[in-house]
Amino acid sequence: MKSNPPCWNCETQTDVVDFRCKVCKKIQKIGKTNPYDIFSLKKNYKIDYDELESQYFRLQNIFHPDKFINSDNNEKKISAIESSNINNAYNLLNDNVGRINLLLRSKGLKEFSEDNKSFSDNVLLEEVMELQSRCLKIESDNEKKEIRLELKKKIQLLELQIDELFEKKKFSEVEKLSVKLSYFEKINKNLI
Ligand SMILES: [Zn+2]
Repeated sequence: MKSNPPCWNCETQTDVVDFRCKVCKKIQKIGKTNPYDIFSLKKNYKIDYDELESQYFRLQNIFHPDKFINSDNNEKKISAIESSNINNAYNLLNDNVGRINLLLRSKGLKEFSEDNKSFSDNVLLEEVMELQSRCLKIESDNEKKEIRLELKKKIQLLELQIDELFEKKKFSEVEKLSVKLSYFEKINKNLI
């Protein structure tokens, strides 16, 4: 087991239980920056959303600033910082495009930026434009439902493909599909 850094308060080198020093019971920093590590998840594209959520609630239950109203300033500070880190990490992992960036970055690859997202792919361009124009013409709730269902299927298929490509380490292909994914997600969000 990796040993924790000594407690910031009593300087004891000890195990922590639920991020509290065993000796003085003060809250300790999480000490992790990668969102996957914060939630103890394997660095895969496909994640267990239920597991993510239960880890999220477990951690917020420990670090939420409401629990430190009567604590000293150091603990208040740790709680505020970690609680906001937990939120950011949760939002990033919950976002299927954000996760691609996270994984590319943790593999030492450059994440793709918004500026790099161009329509080099004419088939994709047509697909997106067709969908957008259909969305503009929506006249009934049923029509809307239909398009959303269609989009959901497209997104699910893309996610499967992206997961496979990550496993095969075909990162430039991942990047291509992630452009597609982010457009579909945008259209989907505008439909809600
Ligand atoms: Zn301590």
